[in-house]
Amino acid sequence: MAKHKTPLLDQLESGPWPSFVSDIKQEAESRAKNEKGLDYQIPADCPEDLLGVLELSYNDGETHWKHGGIVGVFGYGGGVIGRYCDQPEQFPGVAHFHTIRVAQPSGKFYTTKFLRDVCDLWDLRGSGLTNMHGATGDIVLLGTQTPQLEEIFFELTHNLNNDLGGSGSNLRTPAACMGMSRCEYACYDSQELCYNLTQEYQDELHRPAFPYKFKFKFDACPNGCVAAIARSDLSFLGTWRDNIRVDQEAVAAYVGGEIAPNAGAHAGRDWGKFDIVKEVVDLCPSNAISYEGGKLSINDKECVRCMHCINTMPRALRIGEDTGCSILCGAKAPILDGPQMGSLLVPFIEVNKDDDYQAIKDVIEGVWDWWMEEGKNRERVGETMKRLGFGALVRAAGVPIDARQVQEPRHNPYIFWKAEEVEGGWERSIDDFRKRHQR
Ligand code: SF4
Repeated sequence: MAKHKTPLLDQLESGPWPSFVSDIKQEAESRAKNEKGLDYQIPADCPEDLLGVLELSYNDGETHWKHGGIVGVFGYGGGVIGRYCDQPEQFPGVAHFHTIRVAQPSGKFYTTKFLRDVCDLWDLRGSGLTNMHGATGDIVLLGTQTPQLEEIFFELTHNLNNDLGGSGSNLRTPAACMGMSRCEYACYDSQELCYNLTQEYQDELHRPAFPYKFKFKFDACPNGCVAAIARSDLSFLGTWRDNIRVDQEAVAAYVGGEIAPNAGAHAGRDWGKFDIVKEVVDLCPSNAISYEGGKLSINDKECVRCMHCINTMPRALRIGEDTGCSILCGAKAPILDGPQMGSLLVPFIEVNKDDDYQAIKDVIEGVWDWWMEEGKNRERVGETMKRLGFGALVRAAGVPIDARQVQEPRHNPYIFWKAEEVEGGWERSIDDFRKRHQR
């Protein structure tokens, strides 16, 4: 019989969707019977007490979790998020209920053995409840107690060949799409770059020294499967700087109905005859495409890499061959100033493994140095960028000024230069100023 009555939580199981309440109940039942025959290292009724404290919160209309100070493992400043219950007598099983973040592999490729080993570890030393994956991308292990932390850390790093993820004011666990392992649109090897930077910046990941959190995400093409442009302080978006490759015979096959558009993704629903003008030409956001006399043409200078035409006719249109990535800076969730998308910092950079991605690392470190100097406590880099101006960020990152960095206002022709950036320096600008003034 259930230890706590949970009428409010029970309602959450009544809808059409699977409920986390059922999952917790399942784990509670399994532990009550000790189906796995384990010598549990934290109270076995921890999932029961979790349901109890949650029901109490619903009744009281307030949370019963509190932050009780910093917990972690020796030498690391992040990766464990301390959670304590303010009703430990009533719910001893969740008196501590710390969360552990574990780094997910690039592109989230696992072996089943690894997943079993993580679950075995968590059954023994934690609540058995996991979240695959947290918003940043990590494996999230929910609920353990302080004496278990070092044991879990040892097992993770020594036997599972893994590591804690990031938390607090540091670099968060970098995340990448599946990239070249499965996707024909990949413009660079997002998994390799993600892995390389994760290894390079171990200090930044584990020892908080930033004003606030900082996220990297890697999308190998502009389709953006990890939504880097909206979810990371520095996003690396695959792109190309030559032309979209067009196969006119395949275009004709799409028009003639021999190849299904959208890679057949709408199979089962009758969309009618494929109309290339309506579904491709008219939907190009920069009016870069025309279709005349059975021939599709693209004005590549106008293309903004939205991917619509390529997604619609993948066998006829392919990304260019001169590929690399764009770097955007400053996306964040709505904490202070509302949500913010990344702003284009570097329009194109080669993703060059042969030089250990040095050009990319130079940009990253320029941004970090500036933000650590100028950023206020708990200010995301996107907020520092807005407060001090995009120009300051561009200079700090050491990237050339480029018209494509100007987002708003595009209709305003006035550009402000520093005097020393103008040929002739101060004298000439003062002269100009005087002349303009006399007029
Ligand atoms: Fe137009 Fe988008 Fe195709 Fe570029 S990728 S040509 S912007 S539809």
